[in-house]
This record gives sequence, structure tokens and C-alpha cells, in this order.
Amino acid sequence: MSQPVEKGTLYVISAPSGAGKTSLVAEMLKADEQLGVSISHTTRPMRPGEQDGVNYHFVSRTTFEAMIARDEFLEHADVFGNYYGTSQVWVEQTLARGQDVILEIDWQGAAQVRRLMPDCVSIFVVPPSAEVLRHRLTSRGTDAPDVVERRLREASEECRHALEFDYLVVNDDFSVALHQLLAIVASQRLRMDRQEVRHAGLLSALMDDSPSR
Ligand code: GDP
Ligand code: ADP
Ligand code: 5GP
Repeated sequence: MSQPVEKGTLYVISAPSGAGKTSLVAEMLKADEQLGVSISHTTRPMRPGEQDGVNYHFVSRTTFEAMIARDEFLEHADVFGNYYGTSQVWVEQTLARGQDVILEIDWQGAAQVRRLMPDCVSIFVVPPSAEVLRHRLTSRGTDAPDVVERRLREASEECRHALEFDYLVVNDDFSVALHQLLAIVASQRLRMDRQEVRHAGLLSALMDDSPSR
């Protein structure tokens, strides 16, 4: 009989827009092939350089609302005036295959996921200062000035929810923040509830007090 597959861990990463979560998650995926990221559905317009099915599944409001009605989202929220949502089926199937899954979602979505999947590990990423956040959002050059202003106004609202998360990572030096995120992943994999299953044979051999030498 084949071994039952160990279920993957669900990571929820939130941050004010421009804090660096998308860039950090992209590097986490390159560093660890056991990690996968959920591609959200959104109604926001595609930015130059983005691709449908890669950065997001870009859909109309009508399609999104039909998906809500069919209960296809694990969570969904209105963020900066657009809908964003996470596919329930994809997340469940991927975790069941044993792959770890990252959700890059806002605080409202994180709260919904925490209620539905209390075993998830949630991480909040912040910039080193409000000035740096403004600079990153402006120099990223992907959003119109009014969109940048709205995202900056809503950054403090997002940050008011930081204490609801399990971990806090300050993204000042990018490589330090990346290593901290990878360390969180490594520590989850070393937890006793996971290790005792993986190393059941070793543990029982070491506990065996019958004379073997
Ligand atoms: P960026 O993350 O600032 O580059 O901007 P995006 O337009 O990609 O994302 C806007 C907001 O929507 C961010 O706060 C994301 O965390 C959030 N978001 C993205 N995907 C999802 C999702 O599937 N569900 C929820 N609830 N929020 C999402
Ligand atoms: P988010 O997904 O949180 O909105 P992004 O990953 O798009 O943020 O990052 C916003 C901008 O800041 C991008 O132009 C990115 O290259 C830059 N950036 C991210 N992290 C750092 C960092 N530690 N130092 C300098 N620039 C950064
Ligand atoms: P952006 O439009 O800049 O890509 O994303 C803006 C915000 O939407 C980010 O804070 C991002 O985390 C959030 N977001 C992206 N996808 C989802 C999603 O599927 N669900 C929720 N709740 N938020 C999302």
C-alpha cells in the first residue's frame, strides 16, 4: 500500500501595497520547489507586463460575481475598489498533493482564511518606513498617481491588522527579509507534529530499550 501523502502547509502573506510581498514571494518560489503560490482572480485592470493566468486570472465583475454565487472562492474581498479572490479547489487540491501553498492576500481575506483553516501560518510584511513605502510604490511605476495615493491612504488600515498575524517580517534589506521568510517555512517543517510522522521509524528505534549492541 502506498504511504498517505502528508498534507501541505498553507501560508498567508499580507502587507500594505508596495511593501514587497510579490517580489519576496517570487524569490521564495525560486528557492524552494515545494512551495507554490495561488494565482488569484481579480477584476482590476491588467498592468503593463502582467499576464493573464500568471500574475492573476483577470476576469470581469460579472464573471467574478457568478463565481461568488457558485461558491468557488475560499475567500474573496473588495480591495481598493476591485474584487480579489482565491480559488478554493486549487488550494485544496494542491495542499492534498503535499505541496505548500502561499496566498498573497489582503487582511480581510487573511481573516476569512484563518477562520476556515486555523492551521494556516500567517505572515505580515511591512516596509521600514512610510516614506520608503511611498518611494517603492511610486518607483514601481505600475499604477496611476491616484491609484498610488489610494493605496498609500489604505496602507495604515492594512497595518492596523498586523497583530492578527503569527509572524512579522520587516522588508528593509531584501535578502534579509527573504531569508527570514524561508526560515519561517523551515521551522514549520521541523515542528514535532510533522517530524514525528516522518521519522516514526527512527524515533521508535531510538526509544526501544531492548539490548541491540
Ligand atoms: P500589490 O500586491 O500591491 O502589487 O497589488 P495587487 O493589485 O496585486 O493586490 C492588491 C491587494 O489585493 C493586495 O492587498 C493583495 O494582498 C490583495 N489580494 C490579491 N489577491 C487576493 C486574493 O485572492 N484575495 C484577497 N482577499 N486579496 C487579494
Ligand atoms: P507588493 O507586492 O507588496 O505590492 P512589490 O513586490 O511589487 O510589492 O514591491 C514594490 C516595489 O518595491 C517593487 O518595485 C520592488 O522591486 C521594490 N522592492 C521590494 N522589496 C524591496 C527592498 N527590500 N528594497 C528595495 N526595493 C524593494
Ligand atoms: P495589486 O492589485 O497591487 O496586485 O494587489 C493589491 C492587493 O490585493 C494586495 O494587497 C494583494 O495582497 C491583494 N490581493 C491579491 N489577490 C488577492 C486575493 O485573492 N484575495 C484577497 N483578499 N486579496 C488579494
